Amino acid sequence: RKMVGKLTTGCTEFDEMMGGGIETQAITELYGEFGSGKTQLAHQLAVNVQMDREHGGLNGSVIIIDTENTFRPERIAQMVKGLSEKYGMELDPEEFLQNIHVARAYNSNHQILLVESATDLANELRDMGKPVRLLIVDSLMAHFRAEYVGRGTLADRQQKLNKHMHGLLRFGDLFNACVVVTNQVMAKPDAFFGDPTRPVGGHVVGHTATFRLYLRKSKGDKRIIRLVDSPNLPEGEAVIAVTTAGLTD
Ligand code: ADP
Ligand code: MG
Repeated sequence: RKMVGKLTTGCTEFDEMMGGGIETQAITELYGEFGSGKTQLAHQLAVNVQMDREHGGLNGSVIIIDTENTFRPERIAQMVKGLSEKYGMELDPEEFLQNIHVARAYNSNHQILLVESATDLANELRDMGKPVRLLIVDSLMAHFRAEYVGRGTLADRQQKLNKHMHGLLRFGDLFNACVVVTNQVMAKPDAFFGDPTRPVGGHVVGHTATFRLYLRKSKGDKRIIRLVDSPNLPEGEAVIAVTTAGLTD
């Protein structure tokens, strides 16, 4: 077993809550309502992972499985500019974009298949300057939710989802990579699940995700991130800000 790496979020409190950062060889789930900052955090991690270890990165590249078409290269460029200013370094947004491999997933089966393509790509990049150290699925459940409607199909869905989650775990182990998935919360109290602040995906996602983070909006550009579930860290909360330059304290 390789030593676990830690990827900085760029936010002091948040990193401290996570015991140093987002761990490799684990699935970290970001859940929260629309606009809570899940996709923003995913973009920021895609930038940070490329930094060297002295700057909290993993010297790696990233694969993003984008199911909602919310990846924005322009946003990456803003964040790279933000880091350039933060560290007084000249960082080239184009170089960062070249190390972000984005794949659109058109349905849940395709999404599952893309983890296999990601594995092939990560194998190719294994001995290169920037091996894949981060795999993002944004969002994990959107296709599953849209395709499997009604109680009768739930068992089917959970079986597929279970396969998907284990594919992701395996990827994290194989490449000593962080795996970050985003998830929605119930829009309204649900007869089956009850709590409106619970992420979707039921026990399959709940038991496979190593770290679960609940994001919610606060005043202005502030967001509160709550560590809900972790094998080794206490529960806690951290405040971050979503700014033009990226995620900050
Ligand atoms: P979700 O949790 O639905 O994925 P997002 O991560 O897309 O939410 O967050 C969207 C929010 O992020 C916007 O409402 C805005 O507050 C903030 N945001 C997005 N882009 C920028 C930007 N360039 N500068 C500052 N804030 C931004
Ligand atoms: Mg989003």
